Amino acid sequence: MKVMSDLPLPPSPGAREHSSIDLANSVIRLPGGKTLDALDTPGSTTAWLIERGLVGDGAALQSYCQNRLVRLREDLREVFTARVTGSAVDSRALEGINAALVAAPNASLLHYAPDSGFFRSLDHPATQLIEHAMSVIAEDAASLLAGDEAGLLAQCEAEPCTRFLLKTHGRRQWCSTRCGDRVRAARSYARKRQQANSESA
Ligand SMILES: [Zn+2]
Repeated sequence: MKVMSDLPLPPSPGAREHSSIDLANSVIRLPGGKTLDALDTPGSTTAWLIERGLVGDGAALQSYCQNRLVRLREDLREVFTARVTGSAVDSRALEGINAALVAAPNASLLHYAPDSGFFRSLDHPATQLIEHAMSVIAEDAASLLAGDEAGLLAQCEAEPCTRFLLKTHGRRQWCSTRCGDRVRAARSYARKRQQANSESA
């Protein structure tokens, strides 16, 4: 049985390029109070990581690994929210991201094979699968937040959605066309109400 880890919304702008946005968005709130979590079991967590090439095909992660990734997601959501709203950054969230950054070696080692010559590859023992995935995601978050694109980071305006995105289309501030439609519908409803109120006044 294939475990589905995909959520019923396409990746937000920027999530394909940034694994940290992708992870932050792996839990979504839908209208009506429903929450969908792509990392709600060890199996769905493994599938999520395999689909993104962050662990190999045969990997099977335990709930311990799932919990660590979920904690990193909370830390990411915390610092992203601080960046977007201008609020104070929680130092514990920052520590969590830094711990993930150094949990696995990020340097590609130099190898030599007689037939192909020199090549580089990142070595990560099977026991460090989750550490490796977390360090890649944390590295992405660190370079995003400290880099030129940090000012583009935004959070979807279509309540109750809380997904993050990179504002690549001017003022557009929603994560998907479905959320955009909801924002427009809410605005037009508010306008009509206001109109009706001023007419009846
Ligand atoms: Zn949204």
